[in-house]
Amino acid sequence: MTELQELAIFGGKPAFGEDHKLVVGRPNIGDRDELFRLIGEALDRRWLTNAGPLVQEFEQRLADYLGVKQCVTVCNATIGLEIAARALGLKGEVITPSFTFIATAHALQWLGLKPVFCDVDPETHNIDPAQIEKLITENTTGIMAVHLWGRPCAIEQLTEIAARRNLALIFDAAHAFGCSHGDGMIGSFGDVEVFSFHATKFFNTFEGGALTTNNDELARQMRLMRNFGFKGYDEVDSVGTNGKMSEVSAAMGLVSLNSVAEFVAVNKRNYDLYRAELAGVAGVSVIDYNESERNNFQYIVLQIPANPEGLTRDDLRLALWEENVIARRYFYPGCHRMAPYDSNGPYDLPVTEQLADELLLMPNGTAVTEDDIRKICRMIGLMMAHPAEIRSKLESAQAAATTS
Ligand SMILES: *Cc1c(COP(=O)(O)O)cnc(C)c1O
Repeated sequence: MTELQELAIFGGKPAFGEDHKLVVGRPNIGDRDELFRLIGEALDRRWLTNAGPLVQEFEQRLADYLGVKQCVTVCNATIGLEIAARALGLKGEVITPSFTFIATAHALQWLGLKPVFCDVDPETHNIDPAQIEKLITENTTGIMAVHLWGRPCAIEQLTEIAARRNLALIFDAAHAFGCSHGDGMIGSFGDVEVFSFHATKFFNTFEGGALTTNNDELARQMRLMRNFGFKGYDEVDSVGTNGKMSEVSAAMGLVSLNSVAEFVAVNKRNYDLYRAELAGVAGVSVIDYNESERNNFQYIVLQIPANPEGLTRDDLRLALWEENVIARRYFYPGCHRMAPYDSNGPYDLPVTEQLADELLLMPNGTAVTEDDIRKICRMIGLMMAHPAEIRSKLESAQAAATTS
C-alpha cells in the first residue's frame, strides 16, 4: 500500500480481513501434543485440582526458573494480589500507581483498603519513588508497585523507602514474567511479587498467576488462604478464599515454560522490526527496553505526543481499527478516572494523564508475522504524514454517525 486513497477510512479494503484481525494479547501457545499428554495424565489420575502433581511440579519449576524460594500458584493475579495484601496484614491506605490495569486498584478496594494513587515517572512509566513519601500518612501500611511493560520499578529506592517507613512492599509483576533486574529475575524482590498468567499475558496458563517470595512463613500463610484456610482435612483456623490453580492450567504452564525462549525470540524480532520500520516516522516513538537485562518484549508501546499539526493517538487508533488492526490504549483513562475512584478526587497525576492520552499498544506475540508488522508500519507512516486528510475523514464519519 502506498496510496492514501487505499486506506480503509477512504473506502479501501481493510489491510487485514475479519479472519486475520490483529489484536493486542493473542495468546502464545506452546507444544500442543505435550499439553494434551499432560492433560490426559491428569484425567487418568482423576486429580484435577487441589495442589495436584502438575501444580506441584509447576511451582517447583517456576521457583527454580525465577531463583526464588517459594512459589504459590493461584487461579488469577487479581485473587493473588488480594491474598498477598491480606497475608501481609495491610490495613488503611496503600500507595499504588493509577497508571496500571484496574485490577491493581480493585484488589485493594475489594479488601476494604484505600488505594492512594501516586504519579509515575515519565521515562519509566513506573511509580515515581520521589513522590511516594509525600503520600505516606499514619494510615499507610504498604506500597503496591507495578513493573509496567515488564520494565522493573525503581526496586532499590522502593525497598529503601519501605524499610525506612516500615511499609510492606508488593510488586504487581503481571507484565514481568521472564524479566530480570541486575542479578535477579523479577519474582525475588519486595515482600512478595504477583504474576499474572492470563491468556493475554506473555506467558499463560489460560487463567492463572503466581505469588513468589523468599519468606517461608508468608508463603505458608498464602497457601492456607488460597485453600479456604484449611490446615488439615477438617481444620480451619483463619479466613481463606478459593485461589487454587487447576491441573489443566498447570499443564499449560509447564508447556509454556518449555517455550519461553522461543516466545521471547519472536517478540524481540517483532519489537526490533517495529522500531526499525517506525524509525523514520515523525511524531511516533517506540518505548525502549534496557537491553542489558532480560525482557519478554511483550509490549510494543507507541508514544504519540499531542501536536496541534499532527494526528492524535486516538486519530491514529481509529484509522488503524478500520484496517482491522485493533491497537489499544493502555491504561486509559487511568484508574483514578474510573468508578469508584473518580469520586475520591481531585487528583494531581499529570504524568499518568499524559501517558493515558499518548500511548498506543500494538499487536505482538507469536500470532503476528513480520509481513503483518511491515504492513502496519507502512500504514502508520502514511497516516502520520497526512494528518489533515485523515482527521477530516474521521470528523465527517463521526458527524454522519451522530446524525443517523
Ligand atoms: C493482567 C493484570 C492484572 C490482573 O491479572 P489477572 O490474572 O487477569 O487477574 C493485574 N495487574 C496488571 C498490571 C495486569 O496487567
